[in-house]
Amino acid sequence: TRATIGVTGLATMGRNLARNIARHGHTVAVHNRTTSRMTSLVEQFGDEGDFVGAETIEDFVAAIEQPRAIIVMVKAGAPTDAVIDELVPLLDEGDILVDAGNAHFADTLRREKALSDKGIHFVGMGVSGGEEGALNGPSIMVGGSDHAYERLQPVVDSIAAQVDGTPCAAHLGPDAAGHFVKMVHNGIEYADMQLIAESFDLLRSVLGLEPSEIADVFREWNEGDLESFLIEMTADVLAHTDASTGKPFVDVVGDAAEQKGTGRWTVQSALDLGVPVTGIAEATFARSLSGHTSQRAAVRETFSDLADLDPSTQRQVDRDAFVDDVRAALYASKIVAYAQGFDQLAAGSKEHGWDLDLGEVATIWRGGCIIRARFLDRIKEAYAAEPDLETLLTAPWFADAIGEGVQAWRRVVAVSAERGVPAPAFASSLAYFDGLRRDRLPAALIQALRDNFGAHTYTRVDRDGSFHTDWAGDRSESSAS
Ligand code: NDP
Repeated sequence: TRATIGVTGLATMGRNLARNIARHGHTVAVHNRTTSRMTSLVEQFGDEGDFVGAETIEDFVAAIEQPRAIIVMVKAGAPTDAVIDELVPLLDEGDILVDAGNAHFADTLRREKALSDKGIHFVGMGVSGGEEGALNGPSIMVGGSDHAYERLQPVVDSIAAQVDGTPCAAHLGPDAAGHFVKMVHNGIEYADMQLIAESFDLLRSVLGLEPSEIADVFREWNEGDLESFLIEMTADVLAHTDASTGKPFVDVVGDAAEQKGTGRWTVQSALDLGVPVTGIAEATFARSLSGHTSQRAAVRETFSDLADLDPSTQRQVDRDAFVDDVRAALYASKIVAYAQGFDQLAAGSKEHGWDLDLGEVATIWRGGCIIRARFLDRIKEAYAAEPDLETLLTAPWFADAIGEGVQAWRRVVAVSAERGVPAPAFASSLAYFDGLRRDRLPAALIQALRDNFGAHTYTRVDRDGSFHTDWAGDRSESSAS
């Protein structure tokens, strides 16, 4: 029998994806550059479904039903190009080549353009949920042609996570739409994790709670609107004791956060698009800061005698009230981070002509992926009620949540500043919110300065047009347009 689909690249992700496909009753051709990965997959898991093992790339391609559908799941970057170059001469017009790795969306745009000239349908498929998701149901974000999606949909829908009977998979748009959405998903994941980490630090540093007590707090939060995979996992991790030392596990882990780059990509793209994704940016920079260990040591040393703010002038905190304030600050900051991420999706969609359905994006993030949360139902509902929503901040549910939480949010940011406990994502999210709601921004002064030193002109609140003041001369104003 011919295979319905093929998977090449059988490391952790490809192997699990192939097993997931086979478990759902599809015959899957499997191939890997190093053949042993393929043979061990078939030996170990061959009884889970129908695998067609291929030792050569030619046998692999020949084993798949036409028009062929081939998933490439290899290391992102040059290895992906190498595999594509190897496959293309063996393919026919109308065949579908899927890159399911973590490609930068610009690479996907480039590859799609090159292959569409050859009649090959190139698909950028974002797969979220890590190793476990690939096996048991990821969230799948697909970009490509309608022809490609028609061919892929039966497989994709069956292997994706399911929430309320809806697969967490969708054809989001052409070419790089799926990889772009996956990138922003990862950026939001950075922000989510940073906000959780700041909450933990504040509860511990301000209230002196032990990690196990904070685990209980997170467990309780997981019963409410914050319910999510990451909050649940945080409770689990904070309750974990290190076997070799008997200390809380979180205390024996090195405190320099690493990154593979998707947060950085998100921020770079946001800068290009002019979208202020302050939450994701703070989260990405906080990871960088944590890794500057020698700078941290130098500053710690120089300021080791720094006096604290006189305790009598600090705001006093009550345990239960502060826990609840941190919860509200976390929720409000999270709304901001998602609002910004969805703004970036809208801007990317406009720039590249993807016509993204933002409600659909929220829908397919509800299961399978790392940021899955009750929260996403609210986003889905917000876009269903108002597809052209200006910002998530003004959707009724979120506006109410911010309105109720804003005092707590201010108190938490004030406490963090007074006690020297850094909460960059909390603080900048609050500043973002206050920035948007302000009647007049000091951007007016910036425009005046720009006109002064560079004749960059300014607009006026009382008249149309752009203007310039002769700052060096008689300070007369001229119309610049
Ligand atoms: P790796 O990223 O570690 O890549 C290893 C695979 O790539 C192996 O199959 C390897 O073959 C193959 N490979 C590398 N270079 C070449 C080449 N020049 N020619 C042919 N094959 C090559 O594997 P993962 O399973 O971790 O990830 C696969 C993809 O999925 C990546 O793009 C990753 O970013 C993405 N991803 C990973 C997630 C995760 O949680 N790990 C989550 C979501 C996406 P060989 O065995 O012969 O060395």
